[in-house]
Amino acid sequence: MTESGRYDVAVIGAGPGGSRAAERLARLGHRVLLLEKRERVGHPVRCAEAVGPREDVERYLALDDTLVSSPVDGVTVVAPDGTRFERGFPGAGFVVDREAFDRRLSEAATAAGAELRTGHQAMGLLREDGRVAGVRVKDLRRGAEYDARAAVVVGADGVESLSPRWAGLKEHYRPEEIFSCAQHLVEGIDAGRAFIEFHLGRRFAPGGYAWVFPKGKDRANVGVGVNPLMADGKTAVQYLDAFLAHRCPGGARGRLVVGGCVVARGLPRLAADGYVAVGEAANQNNPFSGGGIVNALEGADMAAGAVARALERGRLSARDLSSYEKAWKRSTGRANEAFFHAARIFYALADEELSRVVRELSRAKGVIGGKGVEPRRMIQALVVSHPRLLVQFLGYWLGAKRRR
Ligand SMILES: Cc1cc2nc3c(=O)[nH]c(=O)nc-3n(C[C@H](O)[C@H](O)[C@H](O)COP(=O)(O)OP(=O)(O)OC[C@H]3O[C@@H](n4cnc5c(N)ncnc54)[C@H](O)[C@@H]3O)c2cc1C
Repeated sequence: MTESGRYDVAVIGAGPGGSRAAERLARLGHRVLLLEKRERVGHPVRCAEAVGPREDVERYLALDDTLVSSPVDGVTVVAPDGTRFERGFPGAGFVVDREAFDRRLSEAATAAGAELRTGHQAMGLLREDGRVAGVRVKDLRRGAEYDARAAVVVGADGVESLSPRWAGLKEHYRPEEIFSCAQHLVEGIDAGRAFIEFHLGRRFAPGGYAWVFPKGKDRANVGVGVNPLMADGKTAVQYLDAFLAHRCPGGARGRLVVGGCVVARGLPRLAADGYVAVGEAANQNNPFSGGGIVNALEGADMAAGAVARALERGRLSARDLSSYEKAWKRSTGRANEAFFHAARIFYALADEELSRVVRELSRAKGVIGGKGVEPRRMIQALVVSHPRLLVQFLGYWLGAKRRR
């Protein structure tokens, strides 16, 4: 066992959340270690690569041509009965090159002074006097383990995260809390306009949706995310095969992505003594769409702010770090709570009900705003098309409030 110096902060995971937190804290002069178990940051890509409007992303990273594969100028939703809801809204977002995006963020972290170690996997948390005091790390190339001591650990280890469990913030996921996803990069597809396309219904994506996200001329990420409990024993790849045969039978299948995407309710606690969880590790993804790139960046900024203040004061208990929890819950955490309840109802609907919702969505105003789907408007549309859902929604919401 080798001792590897003492850091102010050790960050687990160089995805968007981890790199951003590392950058912010290093920029403030803290000694930051950024651990990434993969050999290459951002590789392999496990993402459909869509982000929101420019101003939301550029709070964190300037988008240039090397990062953008396609603009997103609108949305198409296809119901199980073929009903289409289409809205153009130029500037809605972008499909990015996720590997380049993640690499750029990690470069910003190292430029700010963070020490990035790829091929180094966190194996557990170190504890001192009952609080987190660093990370047990394995150098995967050498097979050697060592301790990296740090005043605070930021757990940004994504969908496969263990660190929030080690810190006592999270249990194991239930199967329905993770969309099971499969995606091909397809060449030679007529993606039409630069719209993102969602297909609903049991045939292609039970309990989730299938997507076509443009990646430039005649290329698109084509994928499915399914609720494993509703999948009739079939895999996401089998659903993807069926969807590809339907949507783009002549397309050439490139890069295959298989992975999980967290659609769970936000964690009630984001901080433990000497530890904070960020991004997908903290269930900060939008539980309706599974999208979590920008959410992770936002969570990282909030976490970094709280960690920096706690380091200045020299007090690093869960309570001292709790301003992060509060900031998150006041902002995107609150919207995510609404999305979570809407998703539970929406994805359990039978195909004919989903078709009815899509018809109502196409009549409703303001469902898509400048920043994408407006949760309140979406819930309104759901309730208008299915009045009984109001009762169900209130039941979930009140029950959920009581359980907190
Ligand atoms: C198929 C699919 C499609 C998606 N499409 C979209 C989309 O279009 N738009 C969107 O916004 N989101 C999408 N998402 C979700 C998005 O990818 C995540 O929400 C986002 O990557 C979360 O960022 P993060 O920094 O929290 O975690 P990650 O990006 O997952 O980064 C975590 C990092 O931690 C590393 N790591 C894990 N464990 C350890 C360890 N023990 N030690 C060291 N390193 C470790 C991992 O290797 C990884 O690099 C999609 C997800 C999937 C699976």
